[in-house]
Amino acid sequence: MKLIKIAAVAGAAMLVAAAANAQGVDFSKVEITTVDLGNKTYMLVGQGGNITVAVGTDGIIMVDSQYAPLYDKIKAAIAKISPLPIKYVISTHYHRDHVDGNELFNKAGATIVGHDNLRIRLAAGTTNLFNGNKTPPAPAGAIPTMTYQVGDMKVEVGGRVAELRHVINAHTDGDTWVFFPDANVLSLGDTFNRNYPNIDWSNGGGIDGMVLAADRYLKAANDNTKIVPGHGALATKANLQEFRDMLVTARDRVKKLYDEGKTEQQVLEMDPLADLNPKWAAQQGLSSGPSFLRNVYNSFRNHN
Ligand SMILES: [Zn+2]
Repeated sequence: MKLIKIAAVAGAAMLVAAAANAQGVDFSKVEITTVDLGNKTYMLVGQGGNITVAVGTDGIIMVDSQYAPLYDKIKAAIAKISPLPIKYVISTHYHRDHVDGNELFNKAGATIVGHDNLRIRLAAGTTNLFNGNKTPPAPAGAIPTMTYQVGDMKVEVGGRVAELRHVINAHTDGDTWVFFPDANVLSLGDTFNRNYPNIDWSNGGGIDGMVLAADRYLKAANDNTKIVPGHGALATKANLQEFRDMLVTARDRVKKLYDEGKTEQQVLEMDPLADLNPKWAAQQGLSSGPSFLRNVYNSFRNHN
């Protein structure tokens, strides 16, 4: 009895520590670094999802906006690249670390662009069944006014085109990936990360969609493509291929156990991805080994 009590207290303490880490980012200490991708296209790294910036002759297209408290720093980093106005902010998906800056960029004149399912989730608010976290509805200025549902969409500023495409039920149900053909840059949001990805199965994500998305990207990329992941360092097609192969391995192993009727707890105890964890598991959070395993398992429960 005593042992159980101690374990419960330790578990609660760990949860509190994890929450503090997630919330406790000191934005004043975050620096924005700029990576030149060539052809007036840049990747900005700060806190939250990576940003892509494409400069045309009369304005700028931006992909993702990180956190609102970083707005001034992101603006300053972009001003060093170009004095032109930011005309469009494309949101790859609804997660806060990718869209929190939208409202401020919109206030400064940018049109917010995204898939219609992202619009619905931002407007309605969401619940993450993995941890019970609730996200309230986003402020009106953060919600896209330029949306698409099926097919592709193009966003243009002088001399530059961003090609937007939707992948079905991958990281969420409202994912957009962006191709800048003249710079050979792919901007993939969290459908591609350098660690295990988070798969938001409570909001339409799933491992099968993640694999299909990676297959589409491999077709779109060549050996010179610069790939901006949702999180982590700039990547190549070879990195994407490794990521895709890891996803397929994870899917096949967990699907087999799921089809055999193993419960989530049994699968966690069997630890079928143990050999992948040293390379792919981040230290904590939704891309840790156990969390990824749970996300893969639950994507079958959700979609089959
Ligand atoms: Zn995300």
